[in-house]
Amino acid sequence: MKKILITGAAGFLGSHLCDRFILEGFHVIGMDNFITGDKGNINHLLNHSSFEFIEHDVTKFIKIEDDLDYILHFASPASPIDYLKIPIQTLKVGALGTHNLLGLAKAKGARLLIASTSEVYGDPLVHPQTEDYYGNVNTIGPRGVYDEAKRFQESITMAYHRFHGLETRIVRIFNTYGPRMRLNDGRVIPAFMGQALRGEDLTIFGDGSQTRSFCYVDDQIEGIYRLLLSDYTLPVNIGNPHEITIKDFAEEIIKLTGTQQKVIYKDLPINDPMQRQPDITLAKKILDWEPKVGRAEGMKITFDYFKSLSHEQLYKSAHKDFSGYISK
Ligand code: NAD
Ligand code: UDP
Repeated sequence: MKKILITGAAGFLGSHLCDRFILEGFHVIGMDNFITGDKGNINHLLNHSSFEFIEHDVTKFIKIEDDLDYILHFASPASPIDYLKIPIQTLKVGALGTHNLLGLAKAKGARLLIASTSEVYGDPLVHPQTEDYYGNVNTIGPRGVYDEAKRFQESITMAYHRFHGLETRIVRIFNTYGPRMRLNDGRVIPAFMGQALRGEDLTIFGDGSQTRSFCYVDDQIEGIYRLLLSDYTLPVNIGNPHEITIKDFAEEIIKLTGTQQKVIYKDLPINDPMQRQPDITLAKKILDWEPKVGRAEGMKITFDYFKSLSHEQLYKSAHKDFSGYISK
């Protein structure tokens, strides 16, 4: 049985990856410190014979007794309100955490895949974004902590690949959504759906002309699975190229949810990218992958999931309490 370590296992993508790799016959070791994740995402796995869980902060030395065949490094705050609230943890998990996992992969002879992001392109001047675009990132802006951590993560991963011959893979993930996102994580889909369910107006940041391209989680997981098992070492975009403005997207959510509320406009956050669409030519060619789930279908599944949550989860504060995780 192949063994895989998945960091960020209690998060949105990490928990779906645990499910998928168990389904594919792997023994999965999940690791998380719950800083932005939720134990509820992996409760169903805790008694599974192919799953074990280690509560650990990956920025600290990682000790695993077992052999490992693969490592997926998905631990990192991923929503803008999270990484603005915990900027140093965000930098550390991308930099120190990745360094620890590279060291572990080298010691075990394991293949490591890292979760990079479309944010490495910053507020892009090339559209749609191809993997050879170097990006337009403000290093010292509020989002810089996430973007630069991920850019460093890619650099150190390639250095381990080139210098130590480590087997590495880099996925550049574009906005992905689906069940198990945190309803209060501030990302636009949970934000709009939560607002509709609470009977609040939908908050559009800026004039809503900025664009995003939303990928359903099952498609994203399939792309990551294929990339891990491929022999391609350079970064690969995985996302859904179907682009929409945030204003039009808010209208879609109003229709889907049947809310009587209207949209209201708030300030655009600093360095909020104005357009984002993955060019997935490379993924199509080397992984024979493209997304299968359209936005209407994926949004309906996601809204049904949010509707099923408890009253307490719906009204939980928009900001997680991070105080227990921040060392003085
Ligand atoms: P998430 O916040 O739901 O999951 C991240 C998980 O990592 C959480 O469970 C959190 O507790 C854990 N974590 C954070 N720091 C840790 C640490 N130091 N030690 C151990 N665990 C830690 O976010 P997500 O959307 O599932 O994102 C997962 C990964 O994918 C992240 O690396 C993110 O940057 C990347 N990504 C996601 C998207 C997306 O649209 N969802 C887009 C681009 C990149
Ligand atoms: N956004 C918005 N209203 C919200 C939350 C987000 O208009 O309540 C916008 C945000 O400014 C950005 C887009 O939606 O332009 C996507 O934001 P998200 O936080 O989901 O992810 P990003 O792609 O910016 O990392």
